[in-house]
Amino acid sequence: MTTTVTEPDLEFLRRPLRLYIDGEFAATDGRLTVLNPATGLPLAEAPLASEADVDRAVQAARAAFGGWRFTAATERARLIWGLADLLERHKEELATIEVLDNGKPLAEATGVDLALTIELLRYYAGWATKITGSVQPNSIPGMLSMVRREPVGVVAAITPWNFPLLEVAYKLGPALAAGCTIVVKPSELAPLSTLRLMELVHEAGFPRGVLNVVIGGPDVGAALAQHPLVDKIAFTGQTETGKAILRASADDLKRVNLELGGKSPNIVFADADLDAAAGGAFGGIFFNQGQACVAGSRLFAQEPIAEALIDRVAAKAKATRLGHGLDPQTDMGPLISAPHRDRVLGYVGEAARAGAEVVTGGRAAQVAGLGGFFVEPTVIRAVRNDMRVAQDEIFGPVLSVITWTDTDELTALVNDVRYGLAAGIWSRDTSKALRLADRIEAGTVWINTYGMFDVAVPFGGRKQSGFGRELGEEALEPYLQSKSVWLDLDAAVPQSGQGISR
Ligand code: NAD
Repeated sequence: MTTTVTEPDLEFLRRPLRLYIDGEFAATDGRLTVLNPATGLPLAEAPLASEADVDRAVQAARAAFGGWRFTAATERARLIWGLADLLERHKEELATIEVLDNGKPLAEATGVDLALTIELLRYYAGWATKITGSVQPNSIPGMLSMVRREPVGVVAAITPWNFPLLEVAYKLGPALAAGCTIVVKPSELAPLSTLRLMELVHEAGFPRGVLNVVIGGPDVGAALAQHPLVDKIAFTGQTETGKAILRASADDLKRVNLELGGKSPNIVFADADLDAAAGGAFGGIFFNQGQACVAGSRLFAQEPIAEALIDRVAAKAKATRLGHGLDPQTDMGPLISAPHRDRVLGYVGEAARAGAEVVTGGRAAQVAGLGGFFVEPTVIRAVRNDMRVAQDEIFGPVLSVITWTDTDELTALVNDVRYGLAAGIWSRDTSKALRLADRIEAGTVWINTYGMFDVAVPFGGRKQSGFGRELGEEALEPYLQSKSVWLDLDAAVPQSGQGISR
């Protein structure tokens, strides 16, 4: 495969990159080299935060909370909407940064990451003015009881590299609408779009300290998660990291949202529209190079159509063009790093040794002119559900095909995994599909489609895929807490001039 692309000389990448703390761009002694996964070459030097920087960022967010929580909801909405407008204006640049930093194809960065980020901010700008409380009836004569919903405080948003900007936006939108202040720590593997976002936050005119960014790896994340002035952690990442964060939160009883890994089944019944199912199975696993939490990495094919389905998906995989994300011919980009590529390929080798059959792919791909971390789209058949390739989240372009005959047996296999994020069902019999949807342990089930998202529809996991929801009205709740305020309506109130000082 060959690819010819001239990478643009972005002005943003020529500037010295800095943290954003308390409304100022802060220089650091430490630097972090960020690689371009398509070339394997250095892309930028990001600022590396120290523990003192983390502390300053949290202190700034704490100080800003007092003002931001009482800022008129209409003003909060105006600022969030203004930020969305700026993102729209700089959409092309941000999408290009995302491609260079993450490797994904430009059409996906523009059509998914940026489009959803902008819509999401506008959606939560709308919510800022619609967070209501209630007056609850009580059985005590003369007593009024009001229930208010107040912001929880300072939020630490810790995010992964697979949808760098979008994962940050999932947290910023509801947090800002609710009146929380935020310290973001994006992934050290793809931090650049978040740094550019902070320049736009600054331009949008948010009060100082409302949004802050620190950059670094697990130690910086841990320092943030353990900081005593953080009230809530909104985390997306691997299940094991989520567990570490939950432990770290225990001392201060911080509130925690965990959006973790997945091993999602894509189930095809013999009566499905086979072309549609093959398309859904293919897109379900290979979108974003398989680096999606919802990747449909286990394909459950009913016996009578298994051969035909595997043939169709494998044919699509073979026809996939790997290349630089800025090349319009590219269907699939590189994986995020060399160690990740090696880990993914390790799973394929292990499955083959355990008796599974690699139908297509299974190797590192060479793309002429590029030294990046490419992996061929891989389909493996004759997989047993107890193999590691069927149980572990691989987070790469590897599809494991498991065949089945009976629906009860299928349901047991589908749920026999520690994750519970998403699932797909393909059948012309929608009653049957809905009945199966009831029995699947997952936060989202797609029927005759896969990977649908909308800003208004909640998304999140069960089991070890985490808890809490992002998107929709439901995502606001974790950023709010209620306060019950009682008033005795019959209490003696001093008459005018009798003891009231004005
Ligand atoms: P990761 O867990 O390695 O890292 C995520 C973030 O946590 C990074 O910013 C990292 O620096 C930080 N971190 C690492 N160790 C930490 C610690 N001990 N304390 C605090 N912070 C720490 O995950 P990743 O490899 O960046 O992302 C891939 C994972 O994210 C996959 O498992 C994927 O399924 C998951 N993911 C889930 C969703 C979802 O919505 N459920 C969405 C996207 C990605």
